[in-house]
Amino acid sequence: MIVVMKKGSDEAQVQAISDRVEGFGLKAHVSRGEERTVIGLIGDETLVQSASLEMMPGVDKVMPVLKPYKRASKEFHPENTVIKIPPVRHGDKGLSLGGPGVVVMAGPCAVENRDMILSLGAFLKGVGAHLLRGGAFKPRTSPYSFQGLGVEGLRYLAEQRAVVGLPVITEVMDTRDVEMVAEFADVIQVGARNMQNFNLLKVLGRCHKPVMLKRGLSSTLEELLMSAEYVMSEGNTDVILCERGIRTFERFTRNTLDLSAVPVLKRESHLPVVVDPSHGVGHWDLVAPMAKAAVAAGADGLILEVHPDPSQAISDGAQSLTPKRFKALMGELELVARAVGRNLH
Ligand code: PEP
Ligand code: MN
Repeated sequence: MIVVMKKGSDEAQVQAISDRVEGFGLKAHVSRGEERTVIGLIGDETLVQSASLEMMPGVDKVMPVLKPYKRASKEFHPENTVIKIPPVRHGDKGLSLGGPGVVVMAGPCAVENRDMILSLGAFLKGVGAHLLRGGAFKPRTSPYSFQGLGVEGLRYLAEQRAVVGLPVITEVMDTRDVEMVAEFADVIQVGARNMQNFNLLKVLGRCHKPVMLKRGLSSTLEELLMSAEYVMSEGNTDVILCERGIRTFERFTRNTLDLSAVPVLKRESHLPVVVDPSHGVGHWDLVAPMAKAAVAAGADGLILEVHPDPSQAISDGAQSLTPKRFKALMGELELVARAVGRNLH
């Protein structure tokens, strides 16, 4: 249930509603927008007499939230959430994800060695990328494939962060690693295969770093939003939704990148939406067109695989851009971003 306040209602009226809601034994979540203030009720709504709220001063209307996701829904929180990523070095500017700037995360599929991370990080920063991506814990289909460098990989990412200055996004797969990964990462990635690992989501809901949830291989958008709800219901509201392609019968592409996810998620939720065209298509030559299309569709960010020598990549070389191609793409993305009233800064 939400209580929508009248335009011009004051703080005292909002406080009085919150107090009444809490008196019913529920929590009140106040969302102050430019247009109007909305108070969301969290808890057992059968305990609430909605008529008594409706009659209180300043109230416009009391409405049920019909969607199964509440905190993630636009009804509950009409203004878009802008996630702040603080600068990693003194003097750098921080990042905002979900505002007018389109945020570009780029880097290798997996952290392969120290040199690669330091030199690629410097290159990517130089051509305008905002975060460095790279998996230290890799979810691989085969147990015999490279599983990632683990803590050693996290250390290389951290060294890059200190020396080069790009904030880091990296994946966590295990509840036991959340605390450690949170120490190294600026944004924690939940991979497609773990989107419905509810225990992992709950632990991430209690950590203090933004969490990027990748859509499961065969998950609906409603399921993605319910996974966001798991994280948010534990207190962490800095959740980023990521479309990375779903499995269909089509075989020319690795997955089918569902770009309609962008406007749907933007309509249903206030959370920032990021698109991963690399895993979505699986072939480097299809990445640039879909990256541009994603920005045109309203994505708040992109996550792109870039490798210094894709032919030698330990994982996902076929879908990785060379540094040169990435640089060219950044120029094109800037133009698309401007055409839709955004920018790449
Ligand atoms: C990745 O980002 O490298 C990755 C494993 O992605 P996904 O979980 O979307 O397959
Ligand atoms: Mn990958």
